[in-house]
Amino acid sequence: MRALVWHGKEDIRCDEVTDPEIEDPRDAIIRVTSCAICGSDLHLYHNFIPAMMPGDIVGHEMMGEVVEVGSGAAGSLKKGDRIVVPFTIFCGECIQCQRGNYSVCQRSNRKKEFADKVYGHSTAGLFGYSHLTGGYPGGQAEYLRVPFADKTHIKVPDGIPDETLLFLGDIFPTGWQAAVQCDIQPTDTVAIWGCGPVGQMAIRSAILLGAKQVIAIDRLPERLSMAEAGGAIPINFAEESVIERLNDLTNGQGPEKCIDAVGTESHVSFKHPDTIVDRVMQMNMLSSDRPHVLREMIYVCQPGGILSIPGVYGGIVNQFPFGLVMNKGLTIRTGQTHVNRWTDELLRMIEDKLIDPSFVVTHTADLADGPDLYRIFRDKQDSCIKVVLKP
Ligand code: NAD
Ligand code: ZN
Repeated sequence: MRALVWHGKEDIRCDEVTDPEIEDPRDAIIRVTSCAICGSDLHLYHNFIPAMMPGDIVGHEMMGEVVEVGSGAAGSLKKGDRIVVPFTIFCGECIQCQRGNYSVCQRSNRKKEFADKVYGHSTAGLFGYSHLTGGYPGGQAEYLRVPFADKTHIKVPDGIPDETLLFLGDIFPTGWQAAVQCDIQPTDTVAIWGCGPVGQMAIRSAILLGAKQVIAIDRLPERLSMAEAGGAIPINFAEESVIERLNDLTNGQGPEKCIDAVGTESHVSFKHPDTIVDRVMQMNMLSSDRPHVLREMIYVCQPGGILSIPGVYGGIVNQFPFGLVMNKGLTIRTGQTHVNRWTDELLRMIEDKLIDPSFVVTHTADLADGPDLYRIFRDKQDSCIKVVLKP
């Protein structure tokens, strides 16, 4: 089959690889009908996530048709079922799964001993996201093996286009969880850094959850326009002071709730000298992340507020002003998304036409064009916001 394969930094190719097979009774195989490139894939593209190996198949946003089911998954899936695959693989039985904490499932990471050493305790297996999270082949491919498939799926009805359902596997619940974690009150201002696909889903979620005011921060005009169309007040961080504008828009109080939908690859510019220091430290392997957004959020957030961080960080964060977090009494909530905790509710919202997540798609292409589209998405060329690939 064809699949997008990681060969090293900025080197993803569409290769011919071996078809996946059932390896465990709880497995299923799907024929992928649509898959997407996620902002998280860019961290792999730039080699900021440790433990990738040449030959790894990437991709963790995918959906398709079930073509084979192991005996252990046959009770809940059958050939021909249409499913979205959550990017977090989960067993459904361990203590964490019983709590709904699927992204920290204790059993789905088959390289658990490795993750235990690095993280202290292992997190869940993820598709196409390094050997720290199990080294599982991803879904930017014609076929995908789904481990723990009896649990790791979202059944979706026919009659709704792939593009409307696909994002149930990642960015829609990610934006939703980010907003839910803010515990939004009708009097709240929610400020959201990053208007990529995750930021866009967080904006719509914060509005659906009844925030008084949602403010969206980015520098790319097409992304800020999309944010505005979704009901947010835009701030262009390349042109204005984020701190001043946020204080102005909140009568000097600062936003009660702040969402970091940027993560480790915050934009580097001389306007923000700390980002230059971060970049230099990163290049010299002295720090793994560029936490400019975290610093800004911690500084501007109203005391007693909540910082919700769906943005991915890799390891050691330099110059993190923890004293401000402590003295202002801020709460930090973060994590990979517990996808299936939210998807029943979100599918119902799609069916009730409260939201159609396909608004975010700007590019659709053949899987073979994937390597080019990684570049276009990374460089924000051609007003690219979200790429869907058709295997
Ligand atoms: P993206 O790269 O398309 O979007 C990031 C946006 O942030 C860009 O529009 C960029 O211009 C903007 N940005 C950069 N620096 C900024 C700054 N200083 N202030 C404000 N905006 C800034 O990525 P995406 O797909 O939207 O994903 C965003 C983040 O969410 C990534 O870190 C991704 O890994 C993460 N993510 C997390 C989960 C999870 O489970 N927690 C799931 C999916 C994605
Ligand atoms: Zn993702």
